Amino acid sequence: MSFTIQNVLIPVEQSYSTVDVQIIDHHIRAIEPNLEVVGTAVNGENKLLLPGFVNAHTHSSEMWQRGIIPPTPLELWLAELYDFAPLEPEQVYLSALGTAVETLLSGGTSLVDHLVLIPGKELETIAAAVRAYQEIGIRAFIGPLIQDESLTQGIPNGGIEREHETYLRSTEATLELMQEVVERFHNPEAGVNILVAPTGIQLCSDALFEGCIELSDRYNLCRHSHLLETKAQQKLAQEKYGCSALEHLKRIGYLSDRTSLAHCVWLSDADIAILAEMRSTVVHNPLSNLRLGSGIAPILKYRQAGVNVAFGCDGAASNDSQDLLEAIKMGSILHNITDTDYHHWITPRQSVEIASLGGAQGLNMADELGSLSVGKKADLVLYNLKSLSLLPRTDPIGLLILGRPTNTVDSIWVNGKQVVAEGNVLTIDVDALRQELFERSQWSINRQSHTLSEIEAHYRSVMGLSPQTPKIHS
Ligand SMILES: [Zn+2]
Repeated sequence: MSFTIQNVLIPVEQSYSTVDVQIIDHHIRAIEPNLEVVGTAVNGENKLLLPGFVNAHTHSSEMWQRGIIPPTPLELWLAELYDFAPLEPEQVYLSALGTAVETLLSGGTSLVDHLVLIPGKELETIAAAVRAYQEIGIRAFIGPLIQDESLTQGIPNGGIEREHETYLRSTEATLELMQEVVERFHNPEAGVNILVAPTGIQLCSDALFEGCIELSDRYNLCRHSHLLETKAQQKLAQEKYGCSALEHLKRIGYLSDRTSLAHCVWLSDADIAILAEMRSTVVHNPLSNLRLGSGIAPILKYRQAGVNVAFGCDGAASNDSQDLLEAIKMGSILHNITDTDYHHWITPRQSVEIASLGGAQGLNMADELGSLSVGKKADLVLYNLKSLSLLPRTDPIGLLILGRPTNTVDSIWVNGKQVVAEGNVLTIDVDALRQELFERSQWSINRQSHTLSEIEAHYRSVMGLSPQTPKIHS
């Protein structure tokens, strides 16, 4: 499995250079002009080579509900999402493939799937996602989404006594399940990594977090959670802990340099200092934060404090796509309105670094992934600089990040194995996937979420919204 990409453009310092890149045994072995050809020769002329990006937070099975959930904040959106979640592992397999295809064709070679588990079919759900990612050949980080509190507990009480249902699985059973998942599926050599992924402070007890910390330490697993995505969660943390969520997570030992935290919209300056101190990673999901009205994460402040940042699409029901380049563009330029000092704004080259090295660092793999460096694993994306959306010729990375790139990915290698050539996925039949997604779904209008209507009045009251029952489904 050796090949040599010839005469390809790569970014260097503040410029570009035309080089040959030798890949031997899954790794980058040399980057220099005029290398001897080892293995297959690949023509890199008029193409740009970049390290693969990381889609650092998604929920693959949300693909079945993209485009349908009405404009609502997270807490109500979640109620509707779970009312209509897919119940068959085969659907999970197909949406994992779909998520992987869209991630690949927008420059991603790794993804973090915070995977929603089908109740009673938890292991089958994970097996289905693993099968999909192994078949297509993307590097997968699967964090089975676990919680031990029911959905209504994720909304602050606001001083009102409320009853909650017991969650369908006990803390102990969930931790036992996770141990089995790790033993069965965690296989970094094969490109399948299991993460411990308690969904977040809003739905998890300390006992669950502590069990996850123990598993993470025992099996050397990364940790992944949502954190302070909404203002409601900020209020909830105060109710639940009497301090900020960050202070609490630090106290129980959950924060570390292999902890990545999706969203981080509602952090104070003191919280940001904690993140910097604990060297945890923020996963920025700008499209989801806009879609759900969650807010704008203070990404420029994170960068100034030295906090590592990565980009994610978030699940396809709150985005409603898995186009990583779109998330990167939005996640970069969005912050220009938050700081008048344009010296702090994110440049296209910085965006590339966040998307690649930032993603790798959040997964504790910065030594192996995330840059074009000799010795690193060959997770590479070759962009066609003659595609219409990258013309006329100006700055290739500027065009890729600030433009609206379509059909620009020419080739992709993951761990040195080619998975895309001439813009086509080689490893699976994408036409067959399209057909399956079509046949297993139907045009759907006017569906009603009963959970949403049950919790909406309380949500409006606790968030200080006018009490009249609005018509979401009008
Ligand atoms: Zn999420």
